[in-house]
Amino acid sequence: MSAMSPVVGLKGLVEAGAVAEPVDQGSIWAEGIVYLPGTDSLRWSDIPNNRIMQHYLGTGVSSIYASHVEFTNGRTLDRDGSVLQCSHGRRRIERDRDGVVTPVVESWGGVPFNSPNDLVVAPDGTIWFTDPPYGIIFPREGHPGKREYGDHYVFRHDTATGETRAAILDVEEPNGLAFSPDGSTVYVADSSALTGSAEHSGNARIRAYDVDGARCKNGRTFVTMEVGVPDGLRVDMNGNVWTSAGDGVHVYSAEGIKLGTVPIPETVANLCFGGDDGRMLFIAASTTIYRLQTATTDVNLIRQSA
Ligand code: MG
Repeated sequence: MSAMSPVVGLKGLVEAGAVAEPVDQGSIWAEGIVYLPGTDSLRWSDIPNNRIMQHYLGTGVSSIYASHVEFTNGRTLDRDGSVLQCSHGRRRIERDRDGVVTPVVESWGGVPFNSPNDLVVAPDGTIWFTDPPYGIIFPREGHPGKREYGDHYVFRHDTATGETRAAILDVEEPNGLAFSPDGSTVYVADSSALTGSAEHSGNARIRAYDVDGARCKNGRTFVTMEVGVPDGLRVDMNGNVWTSAGDGVHVYSAEGIKLGTVPIPETVANLCFGGDDGRMLFIAASTTIYRLQTATTDVNLIRQSA
């Protein structure tokens, strides 16, 4: 690990001169990080090791939470405190409640998904997830497979009715996603530059859509990344977008104005807010989990503690 650099910009969000510090260094490729308030711990996927890790902040101890997990990726808390996660290998969204894993949604239109990558619970309680091809085309993150419905969509699953809809169809390879605090906008990372395919343009940008229930309209490019591709992202309580990038975490206002950067010496895959007051930013960056004290938090944490 090379020397850490202090944050750039982020006035009012992070103390000037602050530096992210390592929490755990035992992964090959850490992804899908979530903070679990009940145990004051972090849980994340170590995708190439096909395992799930957990770190207890109180003791500073990390352990393997589960092995042979069929390549879990993105992860989030549901409103009841259970953990929702994506599985590349099982090509589904699943729920972990106290270590018991059950399927939530496994198919759409009678065919399997590609390899669900990341997910979030919308303000209306529905589960939104992205379905790029990485787990069926890259051997270290899943099993070889076909695109059964022939594309890569963003889906919305309503657990109350069991209905699954394709909500966004025009992102080449949707990856991380997050809602604005009021739920009126959804941000979706397009990381299609990862595959470098001749069949598409190869994007490294975040798209934004107006949301009305299951309908998404007025799709536009929110930002084009300066370094690397966008993977996981989060929106803070004031609507600022904190996105993973090739050289750290980049932060943009809701208007798309760059507010600053948290430099990280490894590729960042995902991030989450958490800790005692919800204001600690945890960053899953390849081999290392970092933390950085901020002055803000995730609106989802506020909702859950309400
Ligand atoms: Mg991802």
